[in-house]
Amino acid sequence: MNDNLYLMVRFGELNTKGKNKKDFILLLAKNIKNSLKDYQYLEYDVLYDHIYIKLNGYNYEEILDTLKDISGIKKISLVYKCEKNLDEINNICLSLIDQTNDKTFKLNCKRADKSFPLHSDEIIRKIATNILKTYHLKVDVHHPDKNIFIEVRNEACYVFEKTFEGAGGYPLGSGGKALLMLSGGIDSPVAMYLMMKRGIKIDCIHFASPPYTQVGVIYKLYDLLHVLNKYQDKINLIIVPFTKIQDAIYNFCPESYAITIMRRMMYRISEQISKQRKCLAIVNGESIGQVASQTLVSMQTINEVINTLVIRPLAVFDKTDIISIAQKIKTYDISIRPFEDCCTIFTPKSPKTAPKSEDVSYYESKFDWKSLIDDAIKNIEVKLITNKDDDLI
Ligand code: ATP
Ligand code: MG
Repeated sequence: MNDNLYLMVRFGELNTKGKNKKDFILLLAKNIKNSLKDYQYLEYDVLYDHIYIKLNGYNYEEILDTLKDISGIKKISLVYKCEKNLDEINNICLSLIDQTNDKTFKLNCKRADKSFPLHSDEIIRKIATNILKTYHLKVDVHHPDKNIFIEVRNEACYVFEKTFEGAGGYPLGSGGKALLMLSGGIDSPVAMYLMMKRGIKIDCIHFASPPYTQVGVIYKLYDLLHVLNKYQDKINLIIVPFTKIQDAIYNFCPESYAITIMRRMMYRISEQISKQRKCLAIVNGESIGQVASQTLVSMQTINEVINTLVIRPLAVFDKTDIISIAQKIKTYDISIRPFEDCCTIFTPKSPKTAPKSEDVSYYESKFDWKSLIDDAIKNIEVKLITNKDDDLI
């Protein structure tokens, strides 16, 4: 076992966060420890500019796979830790050279500890001389076969060659919580992922209209959320019984206004639930121009019934770009399973693309939607979806 092997985690965007930085790092460390809780022998060193994870014999690739999905991590390097001592640094550099495949090399050095007696250039020169004496290698500063990085820090020295990209963004929970409208289509899980990457924790709300929508939709949502548990290990799914509201809309309002009115009802319910659950915003998968209810006029007429902040991460995305993200995060194949959503089931032949606010309010006054909404909210069902929760599927 190599007992000086660590993964070094770098934060990236956190660097711009000034005085909040310490809280962010502690939150990130907590999220990392939580995601890696099955690896009980890992040891953590949480410092101001990096987090070090001592591998203690675990395979680094497995741990790396988990780290790559944790928001707030910019880069991850596999590092060898040693004393701030030239002989030790030298031994590690020599051990990294692969005599069969490496014909050229390059050394890079950063000296954060200014009390270390040698400058970066001197460290590079001394170690390069040793490598050249020991092996038949040449220096190539442009395209080296082996690129070695040495960092002399206050607490120790680190030597590494492999660095991997992290997910970027901010640690989950650092931006508070939002309520995401989850439909089971392609867009809303992508919107959810993008928000989580920004550090926002998510509760999900789904409007279910049985028997118009099948119970299969709910299983589809469980499957989607199990995939997204990778980024947030506990997700609340709030299921709102929406059938009576939908029936009332179709009984009392013209077909061409149905979608607008239905979405206004969804927004009203979402606002109340988001207040109850202390969410700071409502999030959905709307994308400008995608369908009739997503023209700017429609969106305005729908949005005006609430005062809560609504975030639409996909507002300006093309569908093809949304699909690529869905494929990358592995929600796409689940999203395209053919189950009807309450939006699609009653899609009118000619929905209004520019519904007027006064007209919509007039049609809404034809039925007592307030008590229907109260009733729906009283009858919500809340499910906690976790990655250990296989009995839900
Ligand atoms: P998606 O947008 O998720 O691919 P979609 O395109 O079928 O599904 P739209 O009709 O475009 O859905 O609805 C826009 C957004 O409204 C969805 O992204 C989702 O956030 C929200 N939404 C639609 N239907 C529901 C529902 N039944 N429950 C919760 N949210 C919904
Ligand atoms: Mg959509």
